[in-house]
Amino acid sequence: MQLLDGKFVSEKLKERIAIEAAEILKNTGRKPHLVAILVGHDGGSETYVASKIKNCEKVGFNSTLYRFENTITEEELLHKIDEVNKDPETDGILVQLPLPKHISADKVTEKISPEKDVDGFHPVNLGRMQRNLPSFLPATPYGILLMLQEYGIDTAGKHCVVVGRSNIVGSPMSILMARNTNPGNCTVTICHSKTPDIKKYSLDADILIVAIGKKNFITADMVKEGAIVIDVGMNRETSSETKSGFKLYGDVDFEHVAPKSSWITPVPGGVGLMTIVGLLKNTLASAKKEIY
Ligand code: NAP
Repeated sequence: MQLLDGKFVSEKLKERIAIEAAEILKNTGRKPHLVAILVGHDGGSETYVASKIKNCEKVGFNSTLYRFENTITEEELLHKIDEVNKDPETDGILVQLPLPKHISADKVTEKISPEKDVDGFHPVNLGRMQRNLPSFLPATPYGILLMLQEYGIDTAGKHCVVVGRSNIVGSPMSILMARNTNPGNCTVTICHSKTPDIKKYSLDADILIVAIGKKNFITADMVKEGAIVIDVGMNRETSSETKSGFKLYGDVDFEHVAPKSSWITPVPGGVGLMTIVGLLKNTLASAKKEIY
């Protein structure tokens, strides 16, 4: 078993991003600029946004965080996004999900200009991705591709099973692994909550990507010997063992699955760190006008 080490790869890629950011500053007098919008006080969201902001600083980007209470109306939020869309000093915008129930995540996602949509959730970017046109790729699947690339893992011709079909992870991941690209060129199966007997499919996976949000859902008996296992799950549980007061668990039973796998991502220290790299790479590409 070998570890797909998100900490190691993310640090390496962030060093490269920092070099490019410094070059942009030298040539244009400005830094790439990410705007993050956070509504409410969800513990997980607070942590993820803080980490995104900290990493912007680390690679030499500017960042701005707009915070709103849960009481903000949908109209007010859409108005704020419109304002940031029009700001020439902003390269990327992200609105941290989930949003309170009275605000439509679809409306918010579609309000963000595709040209600044560095989370890659806008239907225009998803459509362009599907057609293999230049686009911002959704940050988590993008991070996973970067990880596979950095470890030189050949995916062509392999059977990739994606468990979970969310708009932000499972669904775009399945498209990216099936595209005629490298990484890609897999034969892809997508499983979800209505799939009877997931084990039947997961046992045949050369590459198993799991994004469902259920602690230790994938057990050793569901995994083929020598499989590449990517665990996207981030299940937070309160814990007295850690300083932060919570502990993260993946969707894969790492302890028992790792000995059977050829490569595997840990949680924490795997995909989560790569998601931030995906976001930073998209913001850099936006500042360089590489996509639009
Ligand atoms: P989501 O929107 O809740 O979607 C979950 C997906 O899993 C759905 O497609 C659902 O099927 C499927 N599912 C749920 N229970 C299942 C079961 N028992 N068997 C088979 N499929 C099942 O989740 P998400 O946003 O994709 O997130 C998934 C996990 O990844 C969460 O733990 C989240 O915190 C984590 N995450 C991590 C990162 C990162 O950077 N590491 C980024 C994003 C998300 P249906 O469609 O049929 O309902």
